[in-house]
Parts: sequence; structure tokens; C-alpha cells
Amino acid sequence: MIMALVRATLARSHLPSACRLPTLFFRRQMSETPQLTASISRLRQSGLLKTQGLIGGKWVDAYDGKTIEVQNPATGELIASVPCMGKTEAADAISSAYSTFSSWSKLTANDRSKRLRKWYDLLLSHKDDLALLITLEQGKPLKEALTEVIYGANFIEFFAEEAKRIYGDIIPPTLNDRRLLVFKQPVGVVGAITPWNFPLAMITRKVGPALASGCTLVIKPSELTPLTALAAAELALQAGIPPGALNVVLGNASEIGDALLESTQVRKLTFTGSTAVGKKLMSGSANTVKKVSLELGGNAPCIVFDDADIDVAVKGTLAAKFRNSGQTCVCANRILVQEGIYEKFADAFSKAVQNLQVGNGLEDGVAQGPLINEAAIEKVERLIKDATSKGANVMFGGKRHSLGMTFYEPTVIGNVNNEMLLCREEVFGPVAPLLRFKTEEEAIHMANDTNAGLAAYIFTQSMPRSWRVSEALEYGLVGVNEGSISTEVAPFGGVKQSGLGREGSKYGIDEYLEVKYVCFGNIKEL
Ligand code: NAP
Repeated sequence: MIMALVRATLARSHLPSACRLPTLFFRRQMSETPQLTASISRLRQSGLLKTQGLIGGKWVDAYDGKTIEVQNPATGELIASVPCMGKTEAADAISSAYSTFSSWSKLTANDRSKRLRKWYDLLLSHKDDLALLITLEQGKPLKEALTEVIYGANFIEFFAEEAKRIYGDIIPPTLNDRRLLVFKQPVGVVGAITPWNFPLAMITRKVGPALASGCTLVIKPSELTPLTALAAAELALQAGIPPGALNVVLGNASEIGDALLESTQVRKLTFTGSTAVGKKLMSGSANTVKKVSLELGGNAPCIVFDDADIDVAVKGTLAAKFRNSGQTCVCANRILVQEGIYEKFADAFSKAVQNLQVGNGLEDGVAQGPLINEAAIEKVERLIKDATSKGANVMFGGKRHSLGMTFYEPTVIGNVNNEMLLCREEVFGPVAPLLRFKTEEEAIHMANDTNAGLAAYIFTQSMPRSWRVSEALEYGLVGVNEGSISTEVAPFGGVKQSGLGREGSKYGIDEYLEVKYVCFGNIKEL
């Protein structure tokens, strides 16, 4: 009982729409470790440990002085305190983005492109510090954090280039004295709300195309991981993104969200996060008829057919399942294995999972960091309990890790079926449920039997089957013999209740553009 209390207190609390209580008793008793002291000092020296919001180019505190503590999920240590802002600060950020829109959108595409390119260069030249920040506040291993920095920065580079390719059209007229033109123009002020699982990349995927097209933004990062967003914003200022074009407010999520939704100056809302919050924001956008892009939760099937190359399937499934300790929207949530290969795959996969080293992401060799907070670990426990009570069996792992905090053992569970909660909800943790199927038709039916439709994976050596199945899957992204498929050059987004719109690629910029048709009449012909 006492241990449970200690654990719950040490692990980060999660009160989503309000500022968290300022202090946790047990953490206060702990002195800062030398590792954290050294990290903080390094980040201070680089100028990237920003602890205020950014409004109109000025670093500001919450107007009432309230703060939120940002903690390291691996240790429970306090990294920094940031402002807990609300409606008033959000309103000022919106005004600032609105007044900057006319000047930013009028710069030439070339000018905007150069500034974005400079930002990309700065992100890369500070990649190690940014990765350190991500690991400290989010928990993913440093190597994975570095991959996120490069992936995140790539969106800025890609859209710096794309800024120069926002072409319109000339349409052959239906009357001889007319000329019909199509212009593409920036939407206006964009509200961007992002989650904690990719503290940098979920922001750059939105900010890159928005700024490239001439929009200005108010960003609200997750209260759990605001420091990376603030560091990236500092580098944007250094790159010449003008004050007011990019504002960052953090704190009370529902107050800031409401301010963005209610404002007629905000013309677009772009959100990445849970389906439940996405639905609220979608309905809240109706009153002002905003354009909306939503990147919501997934329930990814990973289908391993009898004819798969087992090594490729194990490696791919491992990547699709355990990246970020299972905390990504494209993580394999259900691993469907054909009966002829089931035992062999289950055995090889469990062995590979046993090699995943769990620990503080700052330590060498660690492949699995902690979960983000106590609520996340309780969800994992609830879903495993439901599955085992209905006949599933834990093949490996299945409990909290001896390291304590929110570390959880990488887990493989067999004999799972599609009706268990583990397959109906997004587990968002290091749990790999294995389901058996007989035929291709059955696998497709099981895979599509969900309201989500973000990512799916298939492993097979049959070319006709890979075509057939990828066409039949009701998903926005399909990996064939590959478990790691996200890239800035390809469109990312879901169908069904996984979202609206696409991020990345040439399609991603359309979300920030309005199409305007202009008809020139009475052209006197020669
Ligand atoms: P979340 O709870 O929905 O939070 C996402 C963001 O919304 C955070 O900034 C949060 O603020 C904010 N928020 C919460 N309530 C709000 C409200 N009433 N009004 C306005 N903003 C509000 O999701 P999460 O737990 O951070 O992220 C995990 C989820 O994101 C998973 O479902 C995952 O699948 C999904 N995801 C999807 C994609 C994709 O591309 N499809 C990518 C990554 C993650 P606070 O954190 O400050 O409370």
C-alpha cells in the first residue's frame, strides 16, 4: 500500500486540462542528480532552456504568475517550471499572430523559404541539445530522440523548399472573353495543439507548411513536454522568423483551446492527439467554421502471413511496436499472425523482445524508456488484466519493471482476440498482443474491424497478396515488409476516426492554403 502510494506520487500526475499542482512531496525530498545538474547547465549554456511562453516575439510569464513543473519521467526530478497560461495569454498570442499575418504572408516565397532553411540549419546544429531535452522531458532513449530531431527538422527543410512551389492554375475558359485563374493563398492564423510523444516533430510537421504558405501560428504544446517546443521557437527567432509569426502558449489546455476555437481571427485548427479531444475540438470549430486538420489515435494491425520472411517480420514488428516504448499513434496495436507461422513467430519475437534493455534514456544501450506518466501505466495494467481474465496468456513481461517509476516490462501476450479491450483501445505502451488467424479474408476483416484507420503493416513475400491486402486495408498508411515508414516526403494521416487531412509531403501544404478562383471578364479579343 505504502509502495503503491510512493510510486503513484513519484510518477507524474496527469490532470489534462488544468495546471498541475506545483509540487510533489517525494520529489521535493530528492536532491538533483549530478546527471541532471550537468544536463541543465549544458542546456542553459546553449541558450535552449527557455522557461517562458512566447507572445509577439517576447518571452513572457503567465500574467498571474502561475507555473507548471516539468519533470523527467525517468527519475521524477524537476527539470524546470514553465508558465501556466490561460485565456488571456492565448488571446494576446492570437492578436499577435493576426497582426503579423499581413506582413509575413506578403514576403516573397523565396524570403520565407530562406528563413525556414536557416531554422532547419539551426535545428540540426543544435541536434544534440534538442535530443537531450526530448529525453529529459519525454523519456525516450537519446538515440531515438536524436532521430526525432532529424525527422522533425526535415519537415522544416522540406517545406522551405515547398514554399516556392505553391502553384495555382489557369483554366481554359468557357467563354472567349474570359480568363479563369486559380490562386492559392494562406489560410491565415493557425492554432496548433500538439501531444507529448513527439515533442518536436509533431510541431514542425504543422509549423513548417503553415509558415511556408504564409500563415502565422499560435502553438500549444503538451504541458508534459513544453521545453522542446520553446527551444525550437527560440531557434526560429534566431533564424529570422519574425516576432509574432510563431507564438507559444502553454498551460491550461481547455482554456487555451477554447480561446483558439472561439476566435474568429483563428481560421484553422490543427491538432495531434487523442481521438476524444480531437472530437471536442472538431465540434468546437463548428461555430466559427474553421478549417480543421486532425491527427488522432490509431489501432494499427500488423499482419504476419505464413509466407513472410520471419526475420524481416520480427524486425519490422519490433520496430512498429516498441518505438518510443509503444507510445506512438502508428505503433502496432494488434499483431495478427497466420496459424501456420504463429508458434515460430511468437517464439522468435518473444526472444527479440527479451533483448530490449529498459532504463533511463540517457544511459547507453537503453532501448525502452519509461511511460509518460502514472495514468499511462495504469491503462496498460487495466488492458492486460482484461485480456488475461478472458483467456490471454502473458508470454513475456506483463508487469511494472523493477526500476520503479513508470517503467514497464516489454511484454508479449498470446491468445488474444479482437474483442478484448487490448484490441479495442490504443494500449500506448510496450505491450504486443498476438492474435491468430486462418485466411487472408479473415485477417483483412479483423484488421478493419475498428473505428481507427491510421497505420497498418503487412509481412508477406507474395507480391499479389501485398497488393491485394494493402488495397483492402482501410488505413491511411500501410507498411509492406517494413515497420518504420514515417518520412517527411510521404503523406501522413488517417481515415475513419483517426483523423482528417494529411501532414508532410506535397499534400501537407494544401491544409494551410485556400483555393481562390478569379474570373477576368470582358477581355477584348484582338
Ligand atoms: P491528448 O490528451 O489528446 O493531448 C493532446 C494535446 O491536446 C495536448 O497538448 C493537450 O494538452 C491538449 N488538450 C487536452 N485537452 C484539451 C482541450 N480540452 N482543449 C484543447 N487542448 C486540449 O493526447 P496525448 O495523450 O497528449 O497524446 C496521445 C494521443 O495522440 C494518442 O491517442 C496518439 O495516438 C495521438 N497521436 C496521434 C498522432 C497522429 O499523427 N495521428 C501522432 C501522435 C500522437 P495537455 O497535454 O497540456 O493537457
